[in-house]
Amino acid sequence: MKIFNTLSRRKEEFVPLDPGKVKMYVCGPTVYNYIHIGNARPMIIFDTVRRYFEYKGYEVNFVSNFTDVDDKIIKKAVEEGVDSDVISKRYIHECKKDMEGMNVRPATRHPLATEEIGGMLEMIQMLIDKGHAYQAEDGTVYFRVKSFREYGKLSHKNLDELQPGFREIKVTGEEGKEDPNDFVLWKPKKEGEPFWESPWCQGRPGWHIECSVMAKRYLGDSIDIHAGGEDLIFPHHENEIAQSEAANEKPFATYWMHNGFLNIDNKKMSKSAGNFFTVREISERYDLQVLRFFMLSAHYRSPFNFSEELMESSKNGLERILTCVERLRELQGKTSGGEMAEGEKEQEKALAALTAKFEAAMEDDFNTADAVSALFEIVKLANTAANGESTRALVDLLMGEIQKLCDVLGIITQRKVEILDDEIEEMIARRGQARKEKNFALADQIRNTLLDKGIILEDTREGVKWKRV
Ligand code: AMP
Ligand code: ZN
Repeated sequence: MKIFNTLSRRKEEFVPLDPGKVKMYVCGPTVYNYIHIGNARPMIIFDTVRRYFEYKGYEVNFVSNFTDVDDKIIKKAVEEGVDSDVISKRYIHECKKDMEGMNVRPATRHPLATEEIGGMLEMIQMLIDKGHAYQAEDGTVYFRVKSFREYGKLSHKNLDELQPGFREIKVTGEEGKEDPNDFVLWKPKKEGEPFWESPWCQGRPGWHIECSVMAKRYLGDSIDIHAGGEDLIFPHHENEIAQSEAANEKPFATYWMHNGFLNIDNKKMSKSAGNFFTVREISERYDLQVLRFFMLSAHYRSPFNFSEELMESSKNGLERILTCVERLRELQGKTSGGEMAEGEKEQEKALAALTAKFEAAMEDDFNTADAVSALFEIVKLANTAANGESTRALVDLLMGEIQKLCDVLGIITQRKVEILDDEIEEMIARRGQARKEKNFALADQIRNTLLDKGIILEDTREGVKWKRV
């Protein structure tokens, strides 16, 4: 299996640290709002990478954090007049709903920055003890970039060219830095901000240290794959490498994978320019499976432009697969024969060749675009090869293969059960009655049944509101 490694800028053969196992860390979102479709790209891509490793028989330990302490979260909390954990908890909850809609499986672990402060204090102290970090007068602790000789190896930057001209312009608040490239590990609290006690000052961690600490705690000093969007290469991942390798004195990640950016109108998504969609907004117009399928239709490293036309064509493509599965399911009820007929052996061979094509695409740096083409060829084969005269064995084989490969891509082949508004209202009323009777188990069961059908309930002061995912 070949993976493009940002570290070497080459495709390399995948060799796990422990045979049969993959330790993988993906930087997760900062939770101050609904996730946008750009954030959805790494979620869908790296969930697919995980699924493919599992398909190949690897045991995958997949860790992805939520950054739940950050300036943007604090700003939003101030705007709403609530504590910052109200904001982070709310958007973690909403993010998980979106992930479910996109069929992104929960990580093996989703650590939160605020629950890992102890580990961060330990690693920062270790870095100070080893001479890789220092405390400034105001209590800020900085990483001493010059102490880590390999700094720049991921982003392929040279320290001298990093911040030209910076030497004269000292940024306010950073006067205590020995060198302009040094970065914050711990910073003093500001009025009204969340803070923790530390040996240096009451304060909070810098952003980079959280990932080094969580990866170490849940996966160990050395991991196989570290991933995220390409904007994280510098400085975030460069700094993570410096922290982890300086503290642990071991290589941090063998492979660094980065997805390209998702753009709108060939421009970077930005709130101020108004070219910005949340996953939740898209869910009002499309089944989120369509968004997933759309993301897989391009190579993950290429920049990709979001457009209605491409979403429509993804919708049609998905429909073609679902219709084929539906037809095969019908044929399963009509056909018989536990063994394939002699004349069907050719189709079996053609199917095996197409599955090999699918796998070859995935093993060439997860070329999902080519894998999807191979899947369409299988659908075409199934549409022509299977009919009322086929043996059940052939129909089962085609059905099994399509479902298996769809599962690798995270595509659910079962159509969502349609549920009418009246039925929903009726179930909500039954849930209300159950709650009145303090039968909370039944009430929860009804809520979950609705959730399975893609209906989300919200209890508000004006009563229960519902919407389709
Ligand atoms: P953030 O919440 O900004 O830290 O982003 C969470 C993840 O989404 C990171 O891996 C980012 O690199 C990724 N990301 C953010 N915006 C985009 C985008 N427009 N296209 C692709 N990935 C993105
Ligand atoms: Zn990170």
